Amino acid sequence: MAAAESDRTTVLRGHVAEAAAELRARGLGLELDQDPTAIDRWLDLRAVELMRSCTIPLEYVDEPIVAGPYTYDMTSCLEHVVTIEELSYGDTGFMLACPGPLMSGVTVGALGDTSQRKGYYERVAGREPTWTFFGLTEPRKGSAATELEATLVPEGDGYRLSGTKRYVGNAAFAQLGVVFCRRAPGPLGIEAVLLDTDEPGFNAEPIPTVGLRGARISHITLDDVRVEPEQILGFKTLKSTRRGLVGAIRTLQRFRPVLTGTALGLARAVLDHVQEQRPGITGTDRLRLEELRDRVAAVRQRNYQVASAIDAGRVRADHIAGVKTRAAELAEGCTLLAADLLGPGSLVTDPWLNKAYRDARAFEFMEGTGHIQRLAVFQGVYKGTFLKD
Ligand SMILES: Cc1cc2nc3c(=O)[nH]c(=O)nc-3n(C[C@H](O)[C@H](O)[C@H](O)COP(=O)(O)OP(=O)(O)OC[C@H]3O[C@@H](n4cnc5c(N)ncnc54)[C@H](O)[C@@H]3O)c2cc1C
Repeated sequence: MAAAESDRTTVLRGHVAEAAAELRARGLGLELDQDPTAIDRWLDLRAVELMRSCTIPLEYVDEPIVAGPYTYDMTSCLEHVVTIEELSYGDTGFMLACPGPLMSGVTVGALGDTSQRKGYYERVAGREPTWTFFGLTEPRKGSAATELEATLVPEGDGYRLSGTKRYVGNAAFAQLGVVFCRRAPGPLGIEAVLLDTDEPGFNAEPIPTVGLRGARISHITLDDVRVEPEQILGFKTLKSTRRGLVGAIRTLQRFRPVLTGTALGLARAVLDHVQEQRPGITGTDRLRLEELRDRVAAVRQRNYQVASAIDAGRVRADHIAGVKTRAAELAEGCTLLAADLLGPGSLVTDPWLNKAYRDARAFEFMEGTGHIQRLAVFQGVYKGTFLKD
């Protein structure tokens, strides 16, 4: 835990917290909830600056994030978690609507060869804000992602890509992203392809949603999109068995603690909102509030341990799944408690709480549903590893 509480981490948290406070003070989460394209009006904010460079290695960034004596690129899982958790406290939807690498950057980092990484990072770190997407989920192939059906068919010295993707964040607004598709049968026939959204045959439409509207989830149609071998991540440097599926798994495992931080940031914001609305809260109500605060703090500490372990090369699927499940439950639980303590009418009269209540329901599904996470926890319990570090 010492590493998790280092001065470097504390300084980063303070720096990001200032950017998050600006989102709250200006009520930008509610603005984006009304109109998710409103992010285009706020591109000069510090929160956007942080998201634009978050996880891009320093060598590609002209003006890196500097706070106190430290320079950050958030390629460390722990620093990524701290950044996203604080920004989510500011507003989860706003944070997800920002330009930057988000999940696709992790896949490119995990699988891309030198030239693919250079091309991707230079573009995303460039002067123009660039939105990206991570296209894995398909209609009827969400949890069963290894059965995905988008297909790469050989054509001349390249391929044609066809299929559909669903619930993909920012896809309808992005300039480039990663699409997972099938070059051969079976899980090991999956590839990850870097795609420009202006390629002929690529089409993406936003999906209307009730909650977390800033995520701007989209439906993608791929109709005979031309793919060159150089667009297949790791095509020249990795064996086919070390490419697509491995990239998806590594991205999800690296990103789940980040999503855990996202849920915990929202949970903390909800508890603080209750405190602000009822500053004199006492008795049982206060105890209920404090109990949830303690549980959020405990899962947060556990998540830092999980993220620090990933940074140290110890990737434990059962531990990662455990914190993700708990954080998603807690985010929902905090909104339920808030509605109880502020009165059932608060969900109608308090627009901020109404939005938080809707947003919190997304975490159950993002990056693997609660059932899928519980299966991973069960495997850890069954093997006797879950309670061991
Ligand atoms: C806000 C948001 C943003 C998202 N962003 C992205 C993105 O950027 N890119 C992307 O690719 N996807 C994204 N997704 C999609 C997300 O990853 C999927 O929703 C998730 O994987 C579940 O898939 P599904 O919705 O098809 O549900 P299903 O897989 O159809 O699941 C339906 C229900 O069945 C249960 N179930 C399924 N399989 C099993 C099983 N084996 N055992 C027990 N229960 C099971 C599930 O737990 C769930 O309750 C996003 C989703 C949301 C809500």
